[in-house]
Amino acid sequence: MSSLQAPRGTFDVLPPDAAQRLVLEEQARRILGAAGYGRIETPTYEATELFARGVGEATDIVQKEMYSFDDGAGRSMTLRPEGTAPICRAYIEHGMHKQPQPVKLWYLSSFFRAEAPQKGRYRQFWQVGAEAIGAAGPETDAELIVLLYDLLQAVGVKGLQLRLSSLGTAQTRREYREELAAYLHAHEDGLSHEVIGRIDLNPMRAFDADDARTRETMRGAPLMLDRLAPDDAEHFESVKALLNDAGIRYELDPTLVRGLDYYARTLWEFTSDALGAQSAVGGGGRYDGLIEQLGGPPTPGVGWAAGVERMLLSAGQQPIAANVVDLFVAIPPSSGEGASQAAFKLANDARRAGLSAQLELAGRGLKGQLKHADRLGARYVAIIGDPMQISLKDMEAGDQTELAPESVIPTILRGSRIA
Ligand code: ATP
Ligand code: MG
Repeated sequence: MSSLQAPRGTFDVLPPDAAQRLVLEEQARRILGAAGYGRIETPTYEATELFARGVGEATDIVQKEMYSFDDGAGRSMTLRPEGTAPICRAYIEHGMHKQPQPVKLWYLSSFFRAEAPQKGRYRQFWQVGAEAIGAAGPETDAELIVLLYDLLQAVGVKGLQLRLSSLGTAQTRREYREELAAYLHAHEDGLSHEVIGRIDLNPMRAFDADDARTRETMRGAPLMLDRLAPDDAEHFESVKALLNDAGIRYELDPTLVRGLDYYARTLWEFTSDALGAQSAVGGGGRYDGLIEQLGGPPTPGVGWAAGVERMLLSAGQQPIAANVVDLFVAIPPSSGEGASQAAFKLANDARRAGLSAQLELAGRGLKGQLKHADRLGARYVAIIGDPMQISLKDMEAGDQTELAPESVIPTILRGSRIA
């Protein structure tokens, strides 16, 4: 084996895996398309400041997970670590606020984070995501949660749990963060060094700490859900009522923290029991201040992203229908003048007529070719010994008939047994 391998934390998607992913993509297109979401693709890299400003300076992503590089002209670029900031950038850049609101978009793309690779955690990974920009009402939040739930169900993700919270709006959050930071400073001897170091950057992350002493200290901390301003509380009540109506079960988790700084109001995360340590399959939230922060007009927004690898891991191998092969075109090694051209033409013509057709490309003997056709599950094999007289073998019936070249495709299309 060559010493060249895929970089650490990356992987190849080989055809059987690609088939699983295609099924997932089709589910996403069906579910999100039916709700009026249009597909978007943004560049693989963006100006670094888009993520620094959008995702939040104090987040893990910006502090240590970004792959940044100089573009050769002195500008710092970053491989996209997430999809929301680029989509908001595109919304502003293309003046999408002039379109009927909300603008509803979805994506399935790869993202890059410099993380310690492990099962379900990679350096290049795929996310499917959806955003609704330009609508502030709770129906939008609830719609997005239901769509994510439906997608996870359709893909077959097992042991799903939904955790739900609200962060309030920027103003209440600021006041709450001060209150929380004061609490944390007053209890520093019960906190890990990492948490202490982040108190003033992002005190909310303290709820996320693994350290047992910190967790104990956090049990007495004030909770954002108890501090919501009346209109935020009302918004959250409506989201919950809509989810109840939709029959979606959730658990309120006032300590829910997600690794992105732009969220306000509704916040949620789906976990799967089937995943072990990396149990988060997907989540999202409302980000009403983000577009303005990126230089656009004040615009509400809400969205989610779900990890494709974690969805597939949790769903396990689902059976996938094998590809049909209608026709295998065989060329006996002893065949005469013009046979290989005729074979090549027949395979092309068959494909253009809508059949799936494969041509012998490996120089096998006739026996080997028939064996290969059988392995592919080919319905018919055309044996081109003489380009003017083609033997068409019906692999199901086992019989063989001699046909003029122009009769081969119509015969297969009729699917009639060759008597
Ligand atoms: P985690 O807490 O597991 O690091 P996160 O909060 O960083 O997740 P998000 O930024 O919200 O994750 O991304 C949404 C989803 O993308 C996650 O729920 C997960 O399924 C997936 N995801 C995130 N980072 C990775 C990664 N490095 N490799 C594979 N999937 C990932
Ligand atoms: Mg992370």
